[in-house]
Amino acid sequence: MSDKTRTMTTTYEALKARRLAIDMTRGKPAADQLDLSQALIDDAAAAGYLSRDGIDCRNYGHGLGLPEARELGGQLLGLDPSQVVVAGNSSLELMHDAIAFAMLRGINSGEPWRLADEVAFLCPVPGYDRHFAICEALGIRMIAVPMNDDGPDMARVEALVAADPAIKGMWCVPLYSNPTGAIYSPEVVRRLARMPAAASDFRLFWDDAYRFHHLTEERYASPDIIGECVRAGHPDRALMFASTSKVTLAGAGLALFASSPRNVDWWQRCVSVRTIGPDKMNQLRHVRYLRDRATLAGLMDRHRAILQPKFAALEASLQALLGEVADVSWTKPKGGYFVSLFTPDGYAKRTVELAAQAGVVLTPAGAAFPYGDDPRDRHLRIAPSCPSPAQIEQAAQVIGLSLLRALDEGVRRRA
Ligand code: PLP
Repeated sequence: MSDKTRTMTTTYEALKARRLAIDMTRGKPAADQLDLSQALIDDAAAAGYLSRDGIDCRNYGHGLGLPEARELGGQLLGLDPSQVVVAGNSSLELMHDAIAFAMLRGINSGEPWRLADEVAFLCPVPGYDRHFAICEALGIRMIAVPMNDDGPDMARVEALVAADPAIKGMWCVPLYSNPTGAIYSPEVVRRLARMPAAASDFRLFWDDAYRFHHLTEERYASPDIIGECVRAGHPDRALMFASTSKVTLAGAGLALFASSPRNVDWWQRCVSVRTIGPDKMNQLRHVRYLRDRATLAGLMDRHRAILQPKFAALEASLQALLGEVADVSWTKPKGGYFVSLFTPDGYAKRTVELAAQAGVVLTPAGAAFPYGDDPRDRHLRIAPSCPSPAQIEQAAQVIGLSLLRALDEGVRRRA
């Protein structure tokens, strides 16, 4: 055993002996981030129940959302309020519903997807595990396509979508993508809007979850996919989703769905069977609290002040331990909630195992791939938002040392 390996092993064992318990599995806001919007709860009574137009928000109705909440949504998404639906507290729920509606009833005049021999979705990888869980639960075959720094590999996407009518949808997280932080380039967005599709009811599931979640001074703009699709002659192609989960309260925010007028009509038809109206009291509170785009941007700056040091602590520790290690790299996201760490092929699972033994729980290796299968076993998703900067430093050390140990085991196996 070399001196370096011996030191590394000692440090891993020393960290393990500390019995750490750090959860890096999910991109949850930390309590001090939630505190930023405590006023939503504290001032709930003061917000009253009457909307600007005298709507009694305590009552049923307004299935597409309170008019002023739709206006706020329109302002935040850069769309006409008539194209924006405000409903529920979770955008993931709306994505699930959109696919379930398409399965059961079809989209617009298309036949229900359940009647097709097969329904498939393109899944850029690494991607968001919960998108893949929806596909798996609803019986949709997932086709992995590589994700680059500027968005999905468009040559692959175009070829697949043009040739296969079973491909009805594609997952897209266009800004600060989960988990790599990729930012779709204008060219990728244009190609997604323009590409010919074999399925006439092909849809982009445009999950703009990190639209406001910048980690640097530079506020990257989300692409206007709906406008791009209109210009490309596919006005109904994009179904857009967003929420204030990581703006206000992750368990009690507002979720948004936005699309073409025709798709909004379709949504209304489907959703009116499911509910007599959303929680307009929460919508009213949010409108009064968030007010406009500038107020929201100010709030996001305060989130950034909490989050940025955590990402910096992670980066510094990974650099110190892994900066010189061949075939190891990680992303330096400009926004969003995640860092992707790439190990040499075949080491992700073992690294997660060793980190867990030392008290740091990571998302299972492979989770960012359809069916939980990372064919190269090399990707780890790290979510640094919830632990404190000091815990992140410890966790990064555990992750780094676990990977070094896994690599050392590999060297010894081969020797
Ligand atoms: N979409 C992406 C890409 C996410 O990373 C997350 C949460 O981590 C969500 C959606 C969940 O959003 P919501 O809280 O609005 O359901």
